Amino acid sequence: MPPEFSTRVGDEAAAVQAFVSRHGRVPRWSGSRAPRSGDLAGEPVRELWQDESWRQIILTAQHAKCAFCECRVDTHAWPLDHFAPKSRVDELVSAGSETATGAVHGRHLRGQHPVGYWYLAYVWTNYLAACFNCSTRWKKTLFPTSPPAAPSPGGAARPLVLNPFCGPDPELHLRFDQDGLIHPRSGSAYGFETIRVCGLDRTTLNGHRKRTAMSTDTALDQVLQLALARTGTIGWWLDWLRSLTAPDALHAGTARSLVRDHLAAQLGAYRVAGAADVGGLLARAGVTGGVDSASWDQVWHVFYFVRAGQWWK
Ligand SMILES: [Zn+2]
Repeated sequence: MPPEFSTRVGDEAAAVQAFVSRHGRVPRWSGSRAPRSGDLAGEPVRELWQDESWRQIILTAQHAKCAFCECRVDTHAWPLDHFAPKSRVDELVSAGSETATGAVHGRHLRGQHPVGYWYLAYVWTNYLAACFNCSTRWKKTLFPTSPPAAPSPGGAARPLVLNPFCGPDPELHLRFDQDGLIHPRSGSAYGFETIRVCGLDRTTLNGHRKRTAMSTDTALDQVLQLALARTGTIGWWLDWLRSLTAPDALHAGTARSLVRDHLAAQLGAYRVAGAADVGGLLARAGVTGGVDSASWDQVWHVFYFVRAGQWWK
């Protein structure tokens, strides 16, 4: 959070609070003009989050990728997404589908809570960079929680939409198959709702992720074939695998999921000459809870042993 953030948004946040207390509804956010005295508590209120330097901080933290679909966002015109919707909350009636032109057909929402998370309108951690499709066409004002509850300051309900910066780790709640299709991991409610709310199973995303999945699969196959044959140089393939899973790679979550699942499937396999199966290598890296709980440093520790030809020793 930029050091001056709280000071600069303080007056506006207080004005919104006063407005909600007085009128029982949320003011309109539309534009940048300062409140005038005598104006209904300054309606409309200022969208201070549009400060360009603040937007750049958020964009950099997200490696210029959408917080939900991991596509590259338009670096000039991306919409700043209020993770918890500030004005109102709707629920999904029908999920709809994507048309050939990328528009959304048959997606219907209905009002759920007329007063949204206004008290998070000027909270830094409620801001995410998102692509136009995820934020404006799919997620909109959807924000399911567990248990279902109306927005309330200090409320204990947890959002069921995954956030790359806080809450449950998306990698533990989403998985991707070799065709690039997305699924809730182990029946996760977080995974299920995030896919539904953000439309992460839409056709264009499936196509983008399929390319990543095919590349990841190819690199994994090559690494293991060369390792088992104890021949050739696997360094180049490992570098490719690393680049596909790097934080700034588009759809890195897809590549990471495939790498983790592949390693998990190999636990106990390749046990040769007294050795180090994947489980043993993870244990040496300090991982006790299986592949899912391994950090990426630890995952790469396993591949280091593969590369060094120590898989069998
Ligand atoms: Zn997106």
